[in-house]
Amino acid sequence: MDVRTVLPAIAVGWSILSAGLLGGERGHAAEAGSVNDAAGAGRHVAALADDALEGREGGSRGGRAAGAYIVETLRGAGLRPAGDEGTYYQRFGTMRNILALVPGSDPACERELVVVGAHYDHVGYGTAANSYGPTGLIHNGADDNASGVAGVLEIAEVLQAMPAKPRRPVLLAFWDGEEKGLLGSWHFVRVRPQPLLDLRPVFVVNLDMIGRLRGERVEIYGGRTMLGLRRILAEANRGTGLELIFDWDIVDDSDHFPFIESRVPTVMLHTGLHDEYHRPSDDVQLVNTAGVEAVARLALGMVMAVADQPGALAGFRDAGRREKNAHRDSLERVVPAGSVATRGRWGMSTRSDAGDPTAPVVVRVVPDSPLDRAGLRTGDRIIAIDGEPIVTQTAMLERMATAGDALRLTLERAGRILDIDVVGGRAPASTGETQTAVPSPAADEGSGAMTRPIPPGKPLPGRPAPGSAASLPAGLKKNRP
Ligand SMILES: [Zn+2]
Repeated sequence: MDVRTVLPAIAVGWSILSAGLLGGERGHAAEAGSVNDAAGAGRHVAALADDALEGREGGSRGGRAAGAYIVETLRGAGLRPAGDEGTYYQRFGTMRNILALVPGSDPACERELVVVGAHYDHVGYGTAANSYGPTGLIHNGADDNASGVAGVLEIAEVLQAMPAKPRRPVLLAFWDGEEKGLLGSWHFVRVRPQPLLDLRPVFVVNLDMIGRLRGERVEIYGGRTMLGLRRILAEANRGTGLELIFDWDIVDDSDHFPFIESRVPTVMLHTGLHDEYHRPSDDVQLVNTAGVEAVARLALGMVMAVADQPGALAGFRDAGRREKNAHRDSLERVVPAGSVATRGRWGMSTRSDAGDPTAPVVVRVVPDSPLDRAGLRTGDRIIAIDGEPIVTQTAMLERMATAGDALRLTLERAGRILDIDVVGGRAPASTGETQTAVPSPAADEGSGAMTRPIPPGKPLPGRPAPGSAASLPAGLKKNRP
């Protein structure tokens, strides 16, 4: 990750990070114990974060050695080169992107390129401009970004080993010069090597710093650059169950940025900043290897979902470039209890999201209502009722108003999909108030026609929907709970 744009953010967050986020979690990697395993992501992280590569600065001896390691891994796995003149390299100045292609299987979309990439350069020995110090020592960049490279290498190996290839071609990309200003990814969006001249990127996943998974929390950037992307992420997450933190701000701090600026739907996955960020101490023993593999599985699931989608993709959602966390906060703002009459018998208010009309956001749960007893929370997104997907908020309200005395709601909470069973309540007596006190896009679920009293609600606990990990190709080991 490029330090220059991160500096202001990290200055604010520093005290919080130091105060404890890391404290309780440092042992996680050691417990996982797999960082020294001679297989999987741990092997790649250890190789790329070795002192022998001298911090992998773009254009340096160590940077070239890191490139050679990646190329040998791709060649060993049998991946097709997609760089210049039959090589894996796309050269620019003294630096080199590394590109490999898994061809698509459907002629109807063989030119629609799905890209999964990570930058492989880091800051070498560090300077005052790119290091928090001490400078002059090797900055191994185990998290930044040997972890992301390890993830893409794992994905490459899995895709190559799959007997049936996805419909759309998938490009495995390893960007150089990211720490010098996103140079490699900017070069790629401007200049396409010969094997990719007829192809057009339609979806990009960027893995940058995925080595410090703590508390299962993964930050998601760019999730609103394509309609339906949040759902694709949540579906891909069924097998891993990570907590997805959706950050709406788009910042030019990593290789997703040139693609978003080029109007290509792009998502970045990131496990967060830490005390060792851009310091010599960002080293291999602190990497949570199991976490790298979990995030890589999530990325692979997303890549497969998009690469294999029949028909046209949704395309770039331009509003996603401009939306900020402030917009998110106003969408998810809770309607205070008592500020409006309760008219619905189930007990919630929702707000429609222009970025995903098929998933209204819960902005109020009436205490002791059927939905409250079933475990609904504000911030949840309703995505289906009795297995039938939501189309619009209005349609959802109609369904709830006309439902019988029990419902199964499918909801998404922080990237996890859950089903909850709801036993309906008696229609409350109307207070005569109207709903005009609710901010305009919010709406109570409709008042019910039900008059029959129901037995005391015995809520069924929310349970995770069945995982779909089995449908993913084997290879990325599932070794987390
Ligand atoms: Zn960085």
